[in-house]
Amino acid sequence: MSIIATPVPILSDNYAWMLRDSGSGAVGIVDPADAKAIIAALEREGGRLDLILLTHHHDDHIAGTDEVRARFNCKVVGAAADQHRLPKLDQAVVEGDKVTLGGSRARVIDTPGHTRGQINYFFPEGEVLLSGDTLFSLGCGRLIEGTAAEMFSSLRKLAALPGGTKVCCGHEYTESNGRFAITVEPNNDALKARIAEVKQQRAAGQPSVPSTMASELAANPFLRAKDEATFADIRAKKDKF
Ligand SMILES: [Zn+2]
Repeated sequence: MSIIATPVPILSDNYAWMLRDSGSGAVGIVDPADAKAIIAALEREGGRLDLILLTHHHDDHIAGTDEVRARFNCKVVGAAADQHRLPKLDQAVVEGDKVTLGGSRARVIDTPGHTRGQINYFFPEGEVLLSGDTLFSLGCGRLIEGTAAEMFSSLRKLAALPGGTKVCCGHEYTESNGRFAITVEPNNDALKARIAEVKQQRAAGQPSVPSTMASELAANPFLRAKDEATFADIRAKKDKF
């Protein structure tokens, strides 16, 4: 049993993620903000949807949820802490809760920082992390509601996942993140290699994600920050970059 995650490009630079449980054929979608594009993508893949997973309340992640739910009559999962500003939830979750998709189960990880109620989902089967706007490839989410301390602690939790974990994030920001990251670590060979790889992927019209946790641990300065003060300093510099 394994989860296969495929990015679905929507809006200007967002990714929704289509999840398929290989054993049962069950299908999930993460952050379906553009109903038309999501419904079309699901129809192309057989017209089945069992589950919607929401990472946080921003419009570019939740906007299409009710329309997609109505079309497929599926279940919607999101953070209990943000129930008041999310679409209606069938399962409101907190840290450590399990979410079932077919024969696979995701663990809910609280990852405040970008927003207060942000959550990530980790499927051990297939090693898939849905990182929303917490962890991007070569970057991390802006601190819109949370503090540097919260985001640093959220990133530490993600860093503890297996190195092979596929980091499935909410935006195609990798190229611009790379331009900043290299100013923080100009001599990091893994970062230079990742920047070159992303340039090729984007030139070929391919998504730069998912990356892997091992790749992010080697190249992402936000994940590599050794303490909270260093993280806060890098985050503040990126905001002005
Ligand atoms: Zn957001």
